[in-house]
Amino acid sequence: MPVADHAAYCEMLDRARRGRFAYPAINVTSLTTANAVLRGLAEARSDGIIQVSTGGAAFASGSAVKDLVLGAISIAEHVHRVAERYPVYVALHTDHCPADKLEKFVLPLVEETERRRAAGRPNLFSSHMFDGSALPLSENLDVAVKLLERFRRNDLVLEIEAGVVGGEEDGVRASAAAKLYTTPEDTLEVARRLNAVEGARYLLAATFGNVHGVYKPGHVKLQPSILRDCQEAVVATFGEAARFYLVFHGGSGSDLRDIHEALDHGVVKMNIDTDMQYAFTRAVADHFFRSYDGVLKVDGEVGDKKAYDPRSYLSRAEAAVAERVKQAAEELRATGTTMAR
Ligand SMILES: [Zn+2]
Repeated sequence: MPVADHAAYCEMLDRARRGRFAYPAINVTSLTTANAVLRGLAEARSDGIIQVSTGGAAFASGSAVKDLVLGAISIAEHVHRVAERYPVYVALHTDHCPADKLEKFVLPLVEETERRRAAGRPNLFSSHMFDGSALPLSENLDVAVKLLERFRRNDLVLEIEAGVVGGEEDGVRASAAAKLYTTPEDTLEVARRLNAVEGARYLLAATFGNVHGVYKPGHVKLQPSILRDCQEAVVATFGEAARFYLVFHGGSGSDLRDIHEALDHGVVKMNIDTDMQYAFTRAVADHFFRSYDGVLKVDGEVGDKKAYDPRSYLSRAEAAVAERVKQAAEELRATGTTMAR
């Protein structure tokens, strides 16, 4: 299927919230990882979201170039080209972008979409995240409202964050004093400000003890009931139409019961990065340990070209990531839910 257009993406989000499932939103940094996600989603018959972080985009442009915008465009164009060969819908999204990187990342990508739309071409990305969680809430929302007005004109979905996800992602470390639990009062303010931009679509990453990176089971103290409290408060104040579409960040190592409770409270997108990184590297490490004297020229020998051809282990990594995507779809109750027929 082609990359989901705005109408299809909105329908995806509506179906997920109605059906109490969520889309795996997987960070990719290369052709191999993008292809792996498409394969995994197709095998799970689940639609999904492919996303690029600032660091991932810089990486994708090449270590000598390190151009965030170029790398993001390059990955998005690849996905636009190959997605048509897979029988599911994917949306394209950019991950965490703090206020001081908007000018270097999200805004040039929105301009690129505006140029494409003016030329009658599809949007480059389906949605972008602005992460203003390091700012006071009122400043966070001032920026978000301005973005949302521009996004509405361009059929783009905005993701924002209120509260801070703990841990470290892409080299950005949350401070120990960060606010790990969003309050109903915060989310009421989010709804009051953003719902004033009528007809626009946004997703809210609310925090309920989530932590980026990975911890042993039991170390992540999630409180999904916080999401229920926020939904109840917003529906009581602004009506059913204001019910949030929520995003779950920092869920690696979470208990399945907590994940399912979060889905019951309106989580429609779950970001998965760390677990995919491990699935990729696990498969590569396995190959290297098993064929040590094939990948290396040991004791004057010549190694084994079949073993050190990067395709041999990258295709194993692709299969392993695809398998992990299928597992994620299963955990998020998304298996078999594709809109593609
Ligand atoms: Zn995140």
